[in-house]
Amino acid sequence: MDRAHYAPTQAYEDSPQPIGHRATISAPHMHASACESLLEYLYPGARVLDIGSGSGYLTAVLANLVGPSGSVVGIDHIQPLVIMAETNMSKSEDGKKMLDSGQVKFVKGDGRKGWVDGAPYDAIHVGAAAAEHHKELSDQLKAPGRMFVPVEEGYMQHIYVVDKKEDGTVVKKKLYGVQYVPLTDAPPD
Ligand code: SAH
Repeated sequence: MDRAHYAPTQAYEDSPQPIGHRATISAPHMHASACESLLEYLYPGARVLDIGSGSGYLTAVLANLVGPSGSVVGIDHIQPLVIMAETNMSKSEDGKKMLDSGQVKFVKGDGRKGWVDGAPYDAIHVGAAAAEHHKELSDQLKAPGRMFVPVEEGYMQHIYVVDKKEDGTVVKKKLYGVQYVPLTDAPPD
């Protein structure tokens, strides 16, 4: 996936870049870390939810990993970013195919509630910092399934890997400190 289709500036720098609407495309090393953490749940045919899909870049990468028998829903609460993600993906033939086939879908909504229409998911990626561990999100994980989520803790944010085990037990593992834009209420239209 060519990041130049998704990052308006310095596409090949390992740093976040502004995409408008107070959002950023995350740095490649963060996208890589997210994929690495979720990898065993991104098997061919897996169902994935990408919350705070923004530019759509990670959504596209996730779609490549799960292949044509899998599906990825990207959700963002800013309509122009939903359209931007679709436009970005349409810049490549592969991306266009994934949109046309329904393998990838971008929707508008409050990601703190997940996207119940596509649930349950093998993997959920959250691309903005959550104020708490939202129960709706772990409820939408398969058993087994895994979520990668930055969570605010006072002035700090940490990445958590949340595993739902086969018996339905939820286990949270704290990984490292990060700086993400927050998951917020939608701005007025
Ligand atoms: N993964 C994206 C990150 C974009 S920045 C990328 O790398 O391009 C975080 C995104 O979260 C923004 O696009 C913002 O609009 C979105 N966001 C913030 N709060 C949200 C909410 N409550 N529901 C859905 N999306 C939200």
